[in-house]
Amino acid sequence: MKEEMKLKDKVAIVTGGSRGIGRAVVAELARQGARVYFTFHRNAEAAAETEKATGARKLLCPQPDAETIVKTAEAVVAEAGRIDILVNNAGVHADQFLMLMPESEWTKVIDTNLNGAFRWAKAVTRPMLSAGGGAIINVASVSALVGVAGQTNYSASKGAILAFTRSLAAELGGKGIRVNAVAPGFIETDMTAVLPRDIKRRNLERILLKRFGSAAEVASVVAFLASDESAYIVGQTIVVDGGLTAAAL
Ligand code: NAP
Repeated sequence: MKEEMKLKDKVAIVTGGSRGIGRAVVAELARQGARVYFTFHRNAEAAAETEKATGARKLLCPQPDAETIVKTAEAVVAEAGRIDILVNNAGVHADQFLMLMPESEWTKVIDTNLNGAFRWAKAVTRPMLSAGGGAIINVASVSALVGVAGQTNYSASKGAILAFTRSLAAELGGKGIRVNAVAPGFIETDMTAVLPRDIKRRNLERILLKRFGSAAEVASVVAFLASDESAYIVGQTIVVDGGLTAAAL
């Protein structure tokens, strides 16, 4: 089989595919032959751009809306007949020191990043079981692995995603559904564009490769975890951070 068609005939859902890492994942899965659906929340213009650039289908579906998530998954099954791949990518951050953090900002980040991933994983499990297998890839962060001041809400959501990944893998591995995670470091997207220049400079100094990553560099790892190339990898996290967390000094 030609290398780029490794996901031929697979049906994929990518949450938060309108921009950034999600858009790159949509593009890579489509390039490798998958039929791709992606969700977005507010940015209809960016979603239309992703759709145009990749041939994937956009679906307006907010992470906090459990009912719409179930209906969206059902609509994809009705149209495409199956769901083989779920990429839980949609995420937000709302950085603030804990003592100043309103509870609403804590709840928003946990609900979008963690509860949303739970809702989506639950919604695709039955169709994947019916299809006899599948792959779920959860997008975490290096903030799940090391402490980052100002990110207690974000790192709690991402640390929980890694624990969720392992336990769900234990539940579903025996049924042919592989659950894995990626933990990106500092990737150039809208999410990191807003960070203060000082924080960017300090991160750059710590990254062994001395550059930020691209969304495409995360997408290729997600596509690997979605494909049979990773058939014997279950419940694991692949860190994609240019060495940010590899060295202490
Ligand atoms: P981004 O550029 O800000 O894009 C976020 C995506 O998530 C957009 O498609 C957005 O849709 C969608 N989204 C946000 N809130 C949503 C909601 N409530 N319901 C549905 N969709 C929603 O972010 P990114 O940098 O690509 O990050 C993608 C993932 O990678 C996130 O989980 C993030 O935590 C993780 N990550 C990023 C980095 C990094 O350095 N960039 C590092 C580690 C981990 P709209 O366009 O409609 O707003």
